[in-house]
Amino acid sequence: MAWLQKILIPFLGLVLAFWFYSARENFKPEMLKGKRVIVTGASTGIGEQMAYHLARMGAHILITARTEAKLQKVVEQCRELGAASARYISGTMEDMAFAEHVVKEAGTLLGGLDMLILNHVGTSYFGYFNGDVEHVRKLLEINFLSYVAMTTTALPMLKESEGSIVVVSSMAGKVGFPFTAPYSATKFALDGFFSSLRQEFTIQNINVSITLCILGFIDTDTAVRAASELLWVSPAPRAQCALEILRGAALRRRELHYRYGPTRLPLLLRDCAPELLDRMVRSRYRLDRLQPAPTPRTPHTHRTQHPG
Ligand code: NAP
Repeated sequence: MAWLQKILIPFLGLVLAFWFYSARENFKPEMLKGKRVIVTGASTGIGEQMAYHLARMGAHILITARTEAKLQKVVEQCRELGAASARYISGTMEDMAFAEHVVKEAGTLLGGLDMLILNHVGTSYFGYFNGDVEHVRKLLEINFLSYVAMTTTALPMLKESEGSIVVVSSMAGKVGFPFTAPYSATKFALDGFFSSLRQEFTIQNINVSITLCILGFIDTDTAVRAASELLWVSPAPRAQCALEILRGAALRRRELHYRYGPTRLPLLLRDCAPELLDRMVRSRYRLDRLQPAPTPRTPHTHRTQHPG
């Protein structure tokens, strides 16, 4: 075990880092100039930052979330930054008809679609699983089913443009993290669905890329509010995270890890030393600051966004 930790894992890390950084060199912002892009969950956080990067690169942008006033401000800013066009549609992804409507509107307004960035995330809690099955169902609808609905509606346009689907997920969708059971379930579901779909695209020679983004703790307001008190780790910057997602998408990579080391290297341990990985994950938390586990089925009152 000692040789594994001292030699093999650092060596594999170096090989992967070399591969990752040499792939980065091929990215040019012009790759996204004039592209027709939907960004969901773009009123705040990483989605908002992706909209600003896309605007600077000269893309046509359609953003969505629930809060109209915030979307309006983001769209204004995108126009100032140089977007080829910028629009918004407000509504909730709890409603599958709304999810489909956003994609259809993109087709009408932009004359097609090159990139679908699925990034929105419903509100959940950070703590022991509280037995609220209805909450899990609702979160699956927002974080998973609406992604499937949008993809289904967008596929004819994406096939025509040989475009891209970008799925924003989390380390909590690859590794069992405590205190985020409903959120984790939705992110694991994304990996299963979109990894399977990618295989089918390859078999059918469908040239639509799927990039699954595995993110660690990022400094968005909601994540910091929810978890900075409870985690030993410090968050990575959201603007840089947003740019890395767009790089990965433009390069049509199958998976993107940000930050690279803290999200990629633990996955190497997942199969060969799962208990060690579990212990490392638990050591990230300040357990003394968590609320005790609630009685099963007691609705939780403290609701926050999950930190990843
Ligand atoms: P955020 O700042 O909380 O933004 C979430 C976005 O989703 C907002 O625009 C929000 O806008 C929208 N939204 C929430 N509920 C919605 C609903 N029911 N229908 C439609 N839109 C809804 O989140 P973030 O931290 O940027 O996270 C972005 C993505 O990165 C998520 O997929 C998240 O899982 C992933 N991620 C984040 C972290 C992290 O540490 N930040 C770590 C790993 C993965 P409205 O409230 O206006 O609707």
